[in-house]
Amino acid sequence: MTEHNQPSAGALGSSLILVVEDEPTIATNVARRLAAEGARTEVVFNGLDAVDRAARIHPDLVVLDVMLPGIDGLEVCRRIQADRPVPVLMLTARDDETDKLVGLGVGADDYMTKPFSMRELVARINALLRRVERAKALSVDTARLPPMVVGDVTIDRAQRRVKRGGREVHLTPTEFDLLSYLASAPRTVLTREKLLEHVWDWVDASGTRTVDSHIKAVRRKLGSDLIRTVHGVGYAFEPTDGE
Ligand code: CA
Repeated sequence: MTEHNQPSAGALGSSLILVVEDEPTIATNVARRLAAEGARTEVVFNGLDAVDRAARIHPDLVVLDVMLPGIDGLEVCRRIQADRPVPVLMLTARDDETDKLVGLGVGADDYMTKPFSMRELVARINALLRRVERAKALSVDTARLPPMVVGDVTIDRAQRRVKRGGREVHLTPTEFDLLSYLASAPRTVLTREKLLEHVWDWVDASGTRTVDSHIKAVRRKLGSDLIRTVHGVGYAFEPTDGE
């Protein structure tokens, strides 16, 4: 345990959480637990209701099951993110499903595989909400910062935009934070634990898969040469001058 995992640091108390889950027992248990932490919750049981409800209530975070009747969690995630950016914690049935989803660039910020403990769910939601708060606070500080230029990659921290070789690349908020942190220390190997702690504000061995999955997504969007894998250790940003 580190200070990052303390439930008392929770941001849940003032938040509105949309729970999207077609299994009534899980939906009810999640909503009850979040309510016990002080959050306001709304529950929907299918994908179309999720998109409608999210557009109407503007939740602070969405807990989103992947396998849903009607439109699935992937499509729900795309549609609600197209409307406005909102943190999404996706619930998957298996670990390899998480890899697949991140590979597809679905845009969820974190993933949990069923079955999961309510305690871990609460900790991860709190970490995500804290990250949003921190990003808001940071945006005041970063508003006047010049873009960071590393090789042929330009990272505009004020506008949270990324270009490689002059071409703009759309990253999710998590992918942006991950890339920014790696690029802030070029050619330096950062461990997966370090990345997890800094970007996700969450330290647990089970989270390193989330790091790997998001690295894959960044590589897919920006090019596989930009981030070097140091097997058994972590990742390093390797600037290049392009073609
Ligand atoms: Ca389901």
